Amino acid sequence: MIIGGGIVGCMTAMELVNRGHRVTIVERNQIASQTSGESSWAGGGIIFPLLPWQYSQPVNNLTRTGADFYRELSQKLLRETDVDANFVQSGFLLLPEFDKDAALAWCEKNQVEAQAVKAANYDVQSLSGDDALWLPKVCQIRPPYLMQAMRKWLEQNNVTMREHTQLLPLQETEALNEWQTTNGEKLSADQFVVTSGAWSFDLLKQTASKLNIKPMRGQILLYKPETNLRQMVYREGFYMIPRLDGHLLAGSTLEDVGFDNGVTESVRDELRIKAEAIMPTLKHQPIIKHWSGLRPGTPENLPTISAHPTIKNLYLNTGHFRYGLTMAPASAKLITALMAGETPQIDASPYQCAS
Ligand SMILES: Cc1cc2nc3c(=O)[nH]c(=O)nc-3n(C[C@H](O)[C@H](O)[C@H](O)COP(=O)(O)OP(=O)(O)OC[C@H]3O[C@@H](n4cnc5c(N)ncnc54)[C@H](O)[C@@H]3O)c2cc1C
Repeated sequence: MIIGGGIVGCMTAMELVNRGHRVTIVERNQIASQTSGESSWAGGGIIFPLLPWQYSQPVNNLTRTGADFYRELSQKLLRETDVDANFVQSGFLLLPEFDKDAALAWCEKNQVEAQAVKAANYDVQSLSGDDALWLPKVCQIRPPYLMQAMRKWLEQNNVTMREHTQLLPLQETEALNEWQTTNGEKLSADQFVVTSGAWSFDLLKQTASKLNIKPMRGQILLYKPETNLRQMVYREGFYMIPRLDGHLLAGSTLEDVGFDNGVTESVRDELRIKAEAIMPTLKHQPIIKHWSGLRPGTPENLPTISAHPTIKNLYLNTGHFRYGLTMAPASAKLITALMAGETPQIDASPYQCAS
């Protein structure tokens, strides 16, 4: 039983189905929708950490294989579900200021293609010099479409969806046989995996009090400009993502505001100003949508992917913060290997749940 039907839960379910298990996903809202701040629907869809040289090796071990995995998965999902997740290698242009030496050294070491270029050649305005970095192999996917495709695939593969079903915070126990819902129902399974994103700590605080996960809100704007960017662009914490159908995303924020999943006028103005600075033609374009999502925030962006410290048939796959979409495939492979008692392909110790 998987608790939480975001990208991490759905990817874990897919991996378990591929291993021949029967799977139920319990989701308090609806999978592949956005009701109260679920992160997976809301995300930008860049399959790459924004500045990977700023992260530790354990973070990069989980993000490294994401793009190759989604390239194949999106083709499989299109074939088997008829839903196009809009995977595209649109490349990533980094505008200054950033640590160019660290960036180039990291790219060389990790065999990520990178070229020093002039921003002016890419139809964008760089306010702080023309010294940009072009990463042509960086890819994106469209999260709402990916989630729809995943949902359909899981349904076709006999995963039981218990939607509009919320589990109560877990009480201390040695072994978990059943877990109570807010309606008083008791749901049973052999093994349980918590993939409840920003809500994971609330669910587990009585049994894993050191789990360090809190909601971190991100707001994002949507445009449909007359002329779009050709590539994704990043500048000082802000990014823009052109979609295949002509839409353009501009985001995002990192806000420590608890479970408030609203949007604010001040952030709308802040993001609009940053977007127009890079792409002045946006000044005359309407913002057609503005939303937010609650990321499962963790120190150093390090998720917990491990057995529960005391409850023997309970596992955690949560806390992927800014890169849950990118990390979900490697993370699902890791947790399912641990559940099967196998030695995982990557070292699992950095993601251990503190007891
Ligand atoms: C603005 C923004 C931009 C982002 N951009 C990117 C990006 O470009 N690239 C990238 O890799 N990542 C990005 N992310 C991060 C990424 O979206 C998250 O890391 C990822 O979605 C986390 O997935 P999740 O499945 O853990 O959480 P969620 O998608 O939040 O899913 C958790 C689910 O658990 C359910 N749930 C919670 N409690 C219970 C309960 N008690 N019972 C039943 N169900 C429950 C919730 O309803 C929810 O559906 C972005 C996030 C935001 C907000």
